[in-house]
Amino acid sequence: MIALNGVAASSGAALGQFFLLTTEIPLSSPSPSTLSIDEEKAALTAAIDFVGKDLSDRAERSHGELQEILLAVGEIATDPALLEEAFNFIDQGHTASYAINQATDIFKELLLASGGYLAERVSDVANICDRLLCRLGGVEYPEIPHFTVPTVLIARDLSPADTTDLQSDKVLAIVTEGGGPTSHTAIIARSRGIAAVVACPGIVDYAKSHYGEMIGVDATTGEVVFSPPLELQSRLIAKIEKIRRRRESQVVRTSSGYQTLDGRIIPIYANIGRQEDVKVALEAGADGVGLLRTELLYLDRKDPPTLEEQTQIYTDLFAPFGTKKVVIRTLDAGADKPMAFINFDDEPNPALGVRGYRTIVDHEDLLRIQLKAIAAAARRTEADVWVMAPMITLPEEAQRFVDMAKSYGIKTAGVMIEVPAAIFHADEITKICDFVSIGTNDLGQYLHAADRESAPLAGFNDPWQPALLRAVHLVAQAGLRNNCPVGVCGEAASDATLGSILLGLGVTSLSCNVSTLRDVAAGVTALNFTDIQLAAVDVLAASTAQATRSSARNRLVSLEELGL
Ligand code: PEP
Ligand code: MG
Repeated sequence: MIALNGVAASSGAALGQFFLLTTEIPLSSPSPSTLSIDEEKAALTAAIDFVGKDLSDRAERSHGELQEILLAVGEIATDPALLEEAFNFIDQGHTASYAINQATDIFKELLLASGGYLAERVSDVANICDRLLCRLGGVEYPEIPHFTVPTVLIARDLSPADTTDLQSDKVLAIVTEGGGPTSHTAIIARSRGIAAVVACPGIVDYAKSHYGEMIGVDATTGEVVFSPPLELQSRLIAKIEKIRRRRESQVVRTSSGYQTLDGRIIPIYANIGRQEDVKVALEAGADGVGLLRTELLYLDRKDPPTLEEQTQIYTDLFAPFGTKKVVIRTLDAGADKPMAFINFDDEPNPALGVRGYRTIVDHEDLLRIQLKAIAAAARRTEADVWVMAPMITLPEEAQRFVDMAKSYGIKTAGVMIEVPAAIFHADEITKICDFVSIGTNDLGQYLHAADRESAPLAGFNDPWQPALLRAVHLVAQAGLRNNCPVGVCGEAASDATLGSILLGLGVTSLSCNVSTLRDVAAGVTALNFTDIQLAAVDVLAASTAQATRSSARNRLVSLEELGL
């Protein structure tokens, strides 16, 4: 038996045979080309046309999030700047293969330097390069085969294009060596209900040397085991069955909302970022929206959206929620989400630079127009609209934001707590605000000084890290003292066990990823609130991420019964 550990990225479990997707890509040599410059340029242009068309065909066959990702990848592949960069190398006498390899390396370095979401695009650029090298080398790009028997898919990493034709019913689980909890593999696996473990070191080499063996995957704990012993096999089989039964049954939602067994109402909201998410959130049974990421609406814009445009967009987003709550966040631009209509200076460390609320220093007009549009859209609909600002560090920033929001007639204004200093100002901030929402994704990365997108640092960003949970506790207690609701809208709230513990720490609502909302609701409604509170006390005393997780799981045993 070989047991490995990765990061659980999409809940579920699997037991069966595995397939290792190996990508043997033709090498590109720096030796001078034997063809003319024009011939090499023509070959590269033709390869780019082919790959660009293939990506747009794949986008057409897809829908939802995958379709959007594929369209964006297609744009990178056909970006004239990439071609121009490659042509420079061809002009120096290199082959088209070498030129595109070098050009994509330059693109990857630029993306990596930006960090965050942009750094995640590196794997897209690498995949585009692989596809082009195959085309130029006259070999077929290695695609995921059509499985006849349900199979666990193992890969170094998966690009969105790789997963276009993935058969959800034949893939038991996905395990990758790369990626992180917010990587494409994770997003796609969650949206298709496939169990996934990412950032699993050694998986590819072990898969090569253990071909033909059975594999067990527990995507709740991140455990991956080759030739699992009989006891583990029966545990996984039981878990798979529990998950199947739970997914087939309805989660009970009373007329007042989701309720623990002892009658505590727990609001469970959805995180959304696009109009398409609205329907999915409502179908998943969301009590409303706990985080509307407005920057995602404008990432591809060259000019700032006008007041009228924004008013219409927010009206369309709020209206379907009827009288439900919608928490909308003002632009969280900068760092990994640069926006073309905001001028960012070159910063050596953008994640610690001018981002989120900090962009207000030079762009107060953008915030004012956005608040005005939100207020107008709130008046046009019945939704209970709450507004918050991202990346607030100091109480005076919170005060300025709340005052500004109210000056436009917004009734409920608050801030996100995602910068460590704000934890130590939690008393002042929760007195100033009508509510706060904890962004555990950023708070985790800033508490541990570890980029949230980095696969090698994924352990620091494990949301079970004690420092993060203790920080949540401090903020929640300040909220209770000052009668200020404290929600969590970071990914930590998207796990049924951890979400429950957050409630036990004093958090008053959860806002989850739409794809996991049902799991979280199933978990919370299967527990007693008093048990949750007792479990949270034990979790606070644990000093490693493993210990907090196992302490919670041992305490909240009924979640195990649901395969959560
Ligand atoms: C967070 O940081 O936890 C959060 C919800 O915000 P985002 O992921 O958009 O940075
Ligand atoms: Mg954040």
